[in-house]
Amino acid sequence: MSVRVLSRLVGLVWLCLHAGGVAGAIERVTVDPAPLQLEEPQRFGTDPTKAWMPKSAIDAPRAPTYVVRADAGDDEPLPAFELVPGTWMLFGNIAEVDPNNRGFNGNAGFVVTEEGVVVIDALGTPKLGWRLIATIRSKTDKPIRWLIVTHAHPDHFYGAVAFADLPGVHIVAHEGTEGYVRSERIERSVAYRKAFIPEDMGADARGRFQAVIPDLRLGGPRYGWLELHVGEETFRIYNTGTHHSHGDLVIHQKRANIAWVSDLAFNGRVTFMGDGHTREMLENLDWLTRELGDVRLMVPGHGGAQRPPFPMVAKTRAYIEALRAKMAAAIEDDLDLQEAVDQADLPEWRDVPLYELNHRLNANFVYRELEQELFE
Ligand SMILES: [Zn+2]
Repeated sequence: MSVRVLSRLVGLVWLCLHAGGVAGAIERVTVDPAPLQLEEPQRFGTDPTKAWMPKSAIDAPRAPTYVVRADAGDDEPLPAFELVPGTWMLFGNIAEVDPNNRGFNGNAGFVVTEEGVVVIDALGTPKLGWRLIATIRSKTDKPIRWLIVTHAHPDHFYGAVAFADLPGVHIVAHEGTEGYVRSERIERSVAYRKAFIPEDMGADARGRFQAVIPDLRLGGPRYGWLELHVGEETFRIYNTGTHHSHGDLVIHQKRANIAWVSDLAFNGRVTFMGDGHTREMLENLDWLTRELGDVRLMVPGHGGAQRPPFPMVAKTRAYIEALRAKMAAAIEDDLDLQEAVDQADLPEWRDVPLYELNHRLNANFVYRELEQELFE
């Protein structure tokens, strides 16, 4: 077997790890929710009149404004940036999903090794998943071996079913991903994307969406890890708990010395907090600086890759600390949830993209989280 797996985890579950794998061995779950009626049009989508592409994905002044054509073929590659030789990044829009970006509002990446390709995140729809595969095919004919899903949020995960079609691919994710796929929570999120781009969400012959159950799932204690040795490259995959979702991973691509931090740090936009824990997020940002502070590049789930000293880490931390302080003071002053959210404005963040979309929701989330902490 050309791929070696080492782990320092308790409670690690793995299935089906034979060399070569078995086509079709990855379980799919069909999600077919009732249509969702949306009250308001999107205000923070992608503006096609402002199309723009940076020259590099590293320390780019801002993210691309890239229109995904509705009539593009599944086999049409997407733009990709080479970070270091053989390591590629797909650089998504910073926007909410709409018919112009068609769910390409997060990043993904892939690494070409002698023994095959390792993919990090799957983009936001089955169609984008097929186009990600076409992008990989446009750069190399090495087989795709692994897809690592950093977390189960749609913009990172809903393209994964495209990879389940490939022979010999294994999909790795946090064990929380399975719980999410098997829960009712996934229905609303699928219905939401379908409300804008139904054609891109179809995965089976009847056009229904399908999620996948990863065949290798990381659980156990926070900061436990598992290493994939693929060709000349080693990927140490850390379980970073539930700081942002139902289960989050951070990946250290050791030979190139790149950290794929996903939604632990946001670059050039305000974070969104709907599932995780901000206290855990602060702990993990400190852990990231200690454990991986000497990498050459960090690649976030949103925004450009960054060189040291990684200002996005400090900025994400500052935003969360400021919001927690604001909401803690509101609770101290006996403000109720509505009053607390109404006074949660952080003026220094107003000009950061997606502040208007996310900040009040984040304030709401943190208020309830801090109330919960009072009972712990
Ligand atoms: Zn994300």
